[in-house]
Amino acid sequence: MRGVEQREADARQAAERLPELLARGLRRLAITFVNHSGAVLVKGVPLERLPQVARDGVGFSPVADAFGATGLIDPLQSLARPDGDLRLVPVLDTIQPLDPDTGWAWAAGERHHQDGRLYALDQRGFCRRQQTTLTQPEPAGSGLGLTTGFEIEWMVGRPGGADGWQAAVAGGPYGTDRLIEGLDYLSALADGLDAAGLPWLQLHPEYGSGQFELSLAPGEPLQAADRLVAARLVIQRISSRFGLRCSFSPMLAPDLVGNGGHLHLSATREERPLLGGGSGAGGLTAEGEALVAGLLEQLPALLPLACSLNVSFLRLAPGRWAAPFQVWGVENREAALRLIPAGPAGEPAQLELKVADLSANPYLLLGGVMAAIGEALRQPRPLPAPVAGDPAVTAADTARRLPLSLADALVAFRGSPVLREAMGEALHRTVAEAREAEVRRGEELSQAGLIASTRCWPLSGG
Ligand code: GLU
Ligand code: MG
Repeated sequence: MRGVEQREADARQAAERLPELLARGLRRLAITFVNHSGAVLVKGVPLERLPQVARDGVGFSPVADAFGATGLIDPLQSLARPDGDLRLVPVLDTIQPLDPDTGWAWAAGERHHQDGRLYALDQRGFCRRQQTTLTQPEPAGSGLGLTTGFEIEWMVGRPGGADGWQAAVAGGPYGTDRLIEGLDYLSALADGLDAAGLPWLQLHPEYGSGQFELSLAPGEPLQAADRLVAARLVIQRISSRFGLRCSFSPMLAPDLVGNGGHLHLSATREERPLLGGGSGAGGLTAEGEALVAGLLEQLPALLPLACSLNVSFLRLAPGRWAAPFQVWGVENREAALRLIPAGPAGEPAQLELKVADLSANPYLLLGGVMAAIGEALRQPRPLPAPVAGDPAVTAADTARRLPLSLADALVAFRGSPVLREAMGEALHRTVAEAREAEVRRGEELSQAGLIASTRCWPLSGG
């Protein structure tokens, strides 16, 4: 609840911050939230209004969570109503430059009711609650340290050609030829990330034609999700400055590899890593084993939070490095949970959730993952043996495929008491309604039509 005192304190803090932001040439503020379908929605305000906006927020209709993959509203959703209003409040410590040349700054927002209560369907609010529950010291929380980071894959090109998509930057997989062809673009992108205060670890051409990849520096879950949102905006901005169309769609054409949005996580208990240095399989500690086992069990239910689009499930096919098997393995890129042992420079052992793509709302995904981890530690289950090699070959009889369609994944999501309890009934139900709307949208289209409809996602009409 943001009572009157909290609101006034936020206004004072914003007023104190304002001169420094204006002195940096910033003039406008884009306040965003990510809706149920993974679209980043925005209200823009003059930066001078920050104290007032920090106190009162800006209006946003609750119907925004019913905007689907192409922006249309499926009327069967309970949120498809014209009434009500919420206040989108910028989270002050997330304000950073977005595009300094044009004076735009960015802030993550959270939505509240007009009387100051946090809106129960607010995705960032859900993520924040889960982070607090998991990381607060015992007995209030689970006392876990959790560090997370995202990788972003995207393609630059234009619709057309035999595949329905023509790459705009030539060059082979991971090729220096593509690096050189795209060097001005990538340099501008690196400058843009630096200017936006977004630390990154790697930036290079990926496997697919016209595909690039950026690994963001890890941080606490909320910070990792905020960074993903802001970095995507920077990628879109720089691409459009170069006259390039960029797509984060998980599947642009049947014969191309897809775009993933892999999630990395490492965990500690009292500063000691859980995913390495232990005596269990792959060097896991006992608690690390419980964490992996619990996450593995919840993966089918988590899938609608990791992959929002119908075409996400076309990407999740064997042999596309999207890891569609419900197994774990050490350094296995076809295992849904890839355990990466500790690195030589002291990088902690980590897990990579490869199934996630960029249609995920990162706050919902991380909130769901944290809920699954919390449950995994409370109720430890035995961990199955790791799988080595391609599960389609080495474990053909035993490796279970993850759900093959959004509709199948939705059954698992709906049937997960862990997610329902953590999200609350209303958030859980309305996210399921949004996925159901996406399933209905897909039923009316051929596979080619479906892929074309989200080819330049999140840009609709492209
Ligand atoms: N592009 C692949 C995907 O869709 C991932 C390639 C890789 O980074 O291993 O997830
Ligand atoms: Mg990659």
